[in-house]
Amino acid sequence: TIYNFGSINLDHLYQLDHFVRPGETMASNSYQCLLGGKGANQSVALAKAGADVKHVGAIHHSDQSIIDQLESLGVNTDLIRRIDVPTGHAIIQLTKEAENSIILYQGANHALTQEQVDQVLSSANEGDWVLLQNETNLIEYIMRKAQENKLNVAFNPAPMDVELTKKVLEFVDLLIVNEVEAMDLIGTKDIDSTIEAFPKAYPDLAVLMTLGKAGVCYFSDNKTLSVEAFSVDAVDTTAAGDTFIGFCLSSLMKGDEIKQAMTRACAASAICVTRLGAASAIPTQEEVTAFLAK
Ligand code: ADP
Repeated sequence: TIYNFGSINLDHLYQLDHFVRPGETMASNSYQCLLGGKGANQSVALAKAGADVKHVGAIHHSDQSIIDQLESLGVNTDLIRRIDVPTGHAIIQLTKEAENSIILYQGANHALTQEQVDQVLSSANEGDWVLLQNETNLIEYIMRKAQENKLNVAFNPAPMDVELTKKVLEFVDLLIVNEVEAMDLIGTKDIDSTIEAFPKAYPDLAVLMTLGKAGVCYFSDNKTLSVEAFSVDAVDTTAAGDTFIGFCLSSLMKGDEIKQAMTRACAASAICVTRLGAASAIPTQEEVTAFLAK
């Protein structure tokens, strides 16, 4: 089992001729409300990849549609608390030039309690996984408790908070970062020096560093392993990283070697970038197997 302590957002998308100006009231050309948040996206990717995933989080008690949607995609929602705090959400203005401007409200994503964490982790079994991003509260507490319970901790520090990330690395078994997060964390300015400096800075840490259309690197025990991305026509890279994380962890939990897990995750995220959207762009296991057989 993998326990994903993650954000759940409703993304409100408004298509506009231009961003709303100070004092202006403007009608939107279109409106869509989509399930989002890195946490929810990663749970969906894990479920589609065939993992036994329990999402841990909180939403407003009126948002039953979120529960229905996650369940229909195979995510266990028993550990999502229904509370009297608004569900986390994003108000996204999209212009014709494909620029965006976003207001984020964390809401219920920051309402995790220590009691909830203790209850969840006391029912986990040794060897289970805990996954976290940086869109919820109590990160350090959850990791400390997970380690005490001999669970494996995977951390995707997104959005990056350098101070917090450095503080919690001692609890992390697998760190997953993209190139911008990696550069922020070690203070390098380009990707080549980051790839060289990272394993030296953190020799005891296992790290997956995703590199967009260049693929992914893995560092562990002073060894570096790379897998190239698949060449596809990308139309929307939203959720590429979330798809990668879900498929890679699912593969590792099934006992695959790291290289095989990285390859499968690259295939899944390559399919993801050829489709518009977030959760809806994440492929199924069968689609990934068919893609790799080509
Ligand atoms: P994030 O979405 O977190 O920024 P990346 O951009 O590094 O993460 O993408 C994650 C993974 O998605 C990459 O390791 C790669 O396998 C795949 N990917 C991303 N962009 C492309 C692309 N243009 N073509 C093929 N694969 C891609």
